[in-house]
Amino acid sequence: MSWKTLDDMDLDGKKVLVRVDINVPVEDGTVTDDTRIQRIVPTVHEILERGGTAILMAHFGRPKGLVVPEMSLGQIAPAVEACLARKVHFIDGNYGARIGELEPGSVALLENLRFNPGEEKNDEGFAARLASLGDIYVNDAFSAAHRAHSSTEAIARLLPACAGRLMQAELRALETALGTPKRPVVAVVGGAKVSTKLELLANLVEKTDHLVIGGGMANTFLAAQGIDVGKSLAEHDMTDTASEILEKAKSVGCTIHLPADVVVAREFEAGAENETVAANACPADAMILDAGPNTVKTLESVFETCETLIWNGPLGAFEIPPFDTATNAAAAKAAELTKAGKLISVAGGGDTVAALNVSGAAEAFTYISTAGGAFLEWMEGKTLLGVAALEG
Ligand code: AMP
Repeated sequence: MSWKTLDDMDLDGKKVLVRVDINVPVEDGTVTDDTRIQRIVPTVHEILERGGTAILMAHFGRPKGLVVPEMSLGQIAPAVEACLARKVHFIDGNYGARIGELEPGSVALLENLRFNPGEEKNDEGFAARLASLGDIYVNDAFSAAHRAHSSTEAIARLLPACAGRLMQAELRALETALGTPKRPVVAVVGGAKVSTKLELLANLVEKTDHLVIGGGMANTFLAAQGIDVGKSLAEHDMTDTASEILEKAKSVGCTIHLPADVVVAREFEAGAENETVAANACPADAMILDAGPNTVKTLESVFETCETLIWNGPLGAFEIPPFDTATNAAAAKAAELTKAGKLISVAGGGDTVAALNVSGAAEAFTYISTAGGAFLEWMEGKTLLGVAALEG
């Protein structure tokens, strides 16, 4: 890893353009969860403490190159002010002049970058316009780093560029978990479908010692072994692919763990009547909605033998209790081992954070990535364009 950090930059008296992710949920004009804003505070405060002016650049929603007033970042500015405990100058036009008027040491927030059609096209002209507003570029938006946009990729080639503290923490955690991890490494991959996680499974088979497959996707693997999974969510057209992954794992020495027992129900509903059966004994009129207690025991002992855990996706239909039981129990075990200093645990992507939050285990994990797509692409072994642009 050869990207620079804030440690390599002289910020004193500089205008620092910071790409942040403040794409937060908003209801009736009020931010309902400011987690993402909280996470950019260290970088912004450090820039100010070291004598810089912070100019925040971000997107909000998908306006697709059009000015959509409901997607104005103006409505997020008060929440940014509250988190930073600083005045934030919202700049919705006439960028150059307005930034020229800022007192050194101020914080500014530019209007939604995606109002400009150039942003998502990685347009050089738009990047040059943004670059002309500052002296240094800092990318603190890991969650947007898998996309080559003007504010994440092209601009990094126009100014001295570095990773912000949040990006740095994220990259370090990911490197610890999959780049040069302490072995053995166990990956837990759950969720609905094999088809959305094929590349991820292919990469993990190569890089980990144990691969735990759970959730709906495990049903496809069971079906690939000739097991009747009844009415379970399963992709029967993906069974050949599942078999190939099992073969590949054998040849590279990765142990795949599929459920040995499962919790089945006839309704996809919270509190649905359910029973625990062997994985090969799902009744024809029932569906598998969670892994069973014996499977959880096996996972717990696998976790105990491992030094590093990487987790994406729930082991069952976690939104409808009691089918969150296996996910919660495995997460609690990972949390316990992490707290005891025996395991490095990294989780992220899509529903994973929500699933791990249910049990309260997330807090004890070594690192929880709030990035969805970027985390998954990284787990797939892909180069993140926004990160690559910081290298050099
Ligand atoms: P993903 O977005 O691929 O990580 O999938 C998460 C979704 O998979 C959640 O909505 C879960 O409810 C769902 N899921 C997990 N296990 C099952 C299962 N056995 N049957 C149906 N849906 C499941």
